[in-house]
Amino acid sequence: MDTLQNLLFHGGNFLGIEWHGWKIIGWLGNVAFTARFLVQWRATEKRKEVVVPPVFWWLSLAGSWLLLSYALFYRQDSVFIFANLFNWIPYARNLIIHRRHLKAHMQCPACSKVNPPQAKHCMECGQRLPVELR
Ligand SMILES: [Zn+2]
Repeated sequence: MDTLQNLLFHGGNFLGIEWHGWKIIGWLGNVAFTARFLVQWRATEKRKEVVVPPVFWWLSLAGSWLLLSYALFYRQDSVFIFANLFNWIPYARNLIIHRRHLKAHMQCPACSKVNPPQAKHCMECGQRLPVELR
């Protein structure tokens, strides 16, 4: 028990880390970045194909902004700032593209089945989808 206590607490600090607000923000960024891999891995194992769910991009965006805040306002380290300055852009862009793709799906007027973008016929009932929906 003393060994576990010694592993968790170094110099009176949990994990030997001097905790304060910016450390919590930085570590939340690390947690978000780590969690995104676990979420993506789980989604891929579940479907037995490579899947990148939207939550992966949300966690990426949150993690990069948290780490950028930590780097900019606390560490003020140019290497760390540059490493997190631009990587949020493709994460945000992927979320925008994903949202547009979802909106491009078409609901069949006959059976209400939601069909993929550019579908000419309903996947459920076979009815030709109206041109204005395509
Ligand atoms: Zn239909």
